Amino acid sequence: MMTLPQEVKKFINKFRAKKFDIYVVGGAVRNLLLKKSVTNWDFTTSARPEEILKLFPNAYYNNTYGTVSIPVEDLIYEVTPYRREGEYKDFRHPNDVVWAKTIEEDLRRRDFTINAMAYDAKTIVDPHNGQVDLNNKSIRAVGNPDKRFCEDALRLIRAVRFASQLGFMIEEKTRAAIQNNAALIANISWERIRDEFLKIIESEYPSEGVVFLKNVGLLSHILPEVDICFMIPQKSPKRHHIYDVGTHLIQSLKSCPSKDSITRFATLIHDVGKAETFRRDEKTGLITFYNHEVAGTKLAKIIADRFRLSNKQKEKLVRLVQFHQFTVSEIQTDRAIKRFIRNVGAEYLNDIIDLRYGDRIGSGARPTSWRFDLFRKRLAEVQKQPFQIKDLKIDGNDVIKMLELKPGPKIGEVLKKIFDEVENKKLKNERKILLEEIKKFA
Ligand code: ATP
Ligand code: MG
Repeated sequence: MMTLPQEVKKFINKFRAKKFDIYVVGGAVRNLLLKKSVTNWDFTTSARPEEILKLFPNAYYNNTYGTVSIPVEDLIYEVTPYRREGEYKDFRHPNDVVWAKTIEEDLRRRDFTINAMAYDAKTIVDPHNGQVDLNNKSIRAVGNPDKRFCEDALRLIRAVRFASQLGFMIEEKTRAAIQNNAALIANISWERIRDEFLKIIESEYPSEGVVFLKNVGLLSHILPEVDICFMIPQKSPKRHHIYDVGTHLIQSLKSCPSKDSITRFATLIHDVGKAETFRRDEKTGLITFYNHEVAGTKLAKIIADRFRLSNKQKEKLVRLVQFHQFTVSEIQTDRAIKRFIRNVGAEYLNDIIDLRYGDRIGSGARPTSWRFDLFRKRLAEVQKQPFQIKDLKIDGNDVIKMLELKPGPKIGEVLKKIFDEVENKKLKNERKILLEEIKKFA
């Protein structure tokens, strides 16, 4: 017996009072049974949209899915009248929403057994044995898996998403059907693929999810750049790598401590430029990937566009890939470290450190490295250093040249005055602007 929050019970009673049947359904029931918190309350009911709208004056209706949204406290409850599978013509959405008469019909159209349970505060309706699959940690299609994936190919990747989020296995026949129908994913919009893919990347088991995508033939459709990396070896004399590039990317993702989806995405693709820069020396057998981060930067842009990432997400993904090869050498100057910070962008520093940590561990390195730790300390220290005259984008030589001066105290005075202006934010520290400023001292 599962207890529902007071507001949910009150909500259900409003429908009952008008003799409508109503059930909590989908992810909410799944999470209740798993004793996880529920943030999305989805319901299904015998009431029709007009009837629901009459009960809740603040409700609004989306007629593409037949769902009525009702704000309750800080949440929005989604109520969808019983539906059945409409006719799918293009492996995508049904051409129209078709109402059903019973809860059983509604559950039959749902994707996986663990998502096809309903609860009315008294009994669990579970005609497809979702509870058994939940206990067995198994993702199983409702009904004939081949048919279900043909109806809607998004389900191919949703299966992997739920497996990654829950740490479940995909049941054998369902798995075989995913493999058979993988090519149908081409019918699905990139926005919908992106949403599911980012959920896999953000999940508890992102690397297992990506490996599964590869093994069933979905990765070659959605991320061919990573898929081909499994054919690129990198074990060669004098190199520390033990894995092929693809396996290294998977291991990096697995070891990346960040929970941020874009940082994890960047970690997964950071070496994709290695496929096209691979060279093996005939004599020595030595493998090199010169400028792979340049090739990788181009690919990261293509990938970001394909996944319809926002401008902000794209910028982050690209920067992380572009600068992932940074040196952590202890002999570099503060100036060099500052340049690195400027290139990556201070806001992404922790992310690129997380990527690099994953990269290191994902190549089989030990978790601790004094050099890496020292570099992190210096990053923090350098950022604490106040802004100094030597951080200006101009220097004494510029003053000498532009004002045709001989070396002497005047040069320092000019720099100091310009420095004060920049520090007081009256001037931007941009070379072009500061060169103009020098002229004023002529
Ligand atoms: P989450 O907690 O991630 O929201 P969820 O199970 O609620 O998980 P949703 O994508 O919100 O997942 O979908 C809600 C429910 O609608 C699912 O549990 C499932 O029953 C049904 N559903 C969603 N998408 C599909 C689909 N493509 N095919 C069949 N049923 C679907
Ligand atoms: Mg949901």
